[in-house]
Amino acid sequence: MPIIYLDNNATTAVAPEVVEAMMPYLTGEYFNPSSMYEAARGPADAIAQARRTIARLLGNARPPEILFTSCASESNNTALFGTIAANSERRHIITTAVEHPAVYEVGKDLVRRGFEVDFIPVDAQGRLDKTEFVRTLRPDTLLVSVMHANNETGVIFPVEELSRITKETDPAIVFHTDATQTVGKLPIDLRGSFKNVDLLSFSGHKLHAPKGIGALYIRRGTRCRPFLLGGHQEEGRRAGTENVAFIVGLARALELAMERIDADTPRITAQRDRLQHELVERIPYLEVNGGEAPRLDNTLNVACHFIEGEGILYQLSEHGICASSGSACTSGSLEPSHVLRSMRVPFTAVHGSVRFSLSHYTTDAEIDTVIEVFPEIVASLRRLSPYWDAAKNAPRPEAVAMMEQTEMPQSPA
Ligand code: PLP
Repeated sequence: MPIIYLDNNATTAVAPEVVEAMMPYLTGEYFNPSSMYEAARGPADAIAQARRTIARLLGNARPPEILFTSCASESNNTALFGTIAANSERRHIITTAVEHPAVYEVGKDLVRRGFEVDFIPVDAQGRLDKTEFVRTLRPDTLLVSVMHANNETGVIFPVEELSRITKETDPAIVFHTDATQTVGKLPIDLRGSFKNVDLLSFSGHKLHAPKGIGALYIRRGTRCRPFLLGGHQEEGRRAGTENVAFIVGLARALELAMERIDADTPRITAQRDRLQHELVERIPYLEVNGGEAPRLDNTLNVACHFIEGEGILYQLSEHGICASSGSACTSGSLEPSHVLRSMRVPFTAVHGSVRFSLSHYTTDAEIDTVIEVFPEIVASLRRLSPYWDAAKNAPRPEAVAMMEQTEMPQSPA
């Protein structure tokens, strides 16, 4: 059975062009780029070239401002812990309630270490409360970390505006953004609209490079202590022999993404919009999480009232369709995602949310298959749901009232 891969916010297929660019450094050019002999010049030059390419494609940043890491989680941890370690006076941090765990969990850890951390809430569409953001800035704020786009819903935060407001309030506040879901999908201009951003994280495997390579942009003059000590690599900012092939792959992947962005964006948007339109038309009591907010064009997160995401994913998988749910199955208990909870998605839908995320490789025929298969899966699961039984026989206003509750009642209505 062919795979229909619609989980590109989780990871992406490695592009053949990226594999091709990496191959020399996995075979003949295996030398340690720090070695002194002539043969090592090739890998060292390849890293320098990759750094220049990435810096240029992010809006003519300076090449030394690009730090290679192993993944976006490392970039985020470096940005947050590194900033705190380099600045001892201020102890207030601002982030959001819907960050990826690689920021959210660091925020919670900082609370345990005695820092004051504000997690700015979002509304039902996943939009950040801007008034609350401005109100929260303080004279002792050290760091702001606001993601560019949410991995679950695709909702885009106005990082340009928030970073400008932050710097106008106090230029000493460090502004970090986790741009893991946007690099390669949205243009990023670190000398223009992103000129107030000091730190920016991203990861190769979200843009058709392999897993195991990421980067952190560190604006010149930003104080950020190294996370890994023990080597001179990356100008002493990250110890460890450089992952030459993957660094080359990351640069090639970003190059491809930027070459394709003008053609990919309208095509992917049209595919996503058609999928959304058809599912909303064909399935009663289906809502789009973040549907009214500015969103990434490749992401569709649907809330299917009265059923469980895991059941949906299992049945989709039987048709070869790969998607994702809003629940993380942790140690046997199904916890709804903190993102959907922050959006106050009702209890009837918080477990039944499914994310489809498209890519350059998504075809119209694949979207047709999902449109055909998904409504039947939802209908078959609902036939087993006591809540659905209650809702479908109830007059619509009563069913709607039931779907507006955020906490589960004792028994079906
Ligand atoms: N930040 C965001 C917004 C993400 O979507 C992800 C991955 O899902 C990460 C960080 C972590 O990326 P990595 O797997 O490269 O550590």
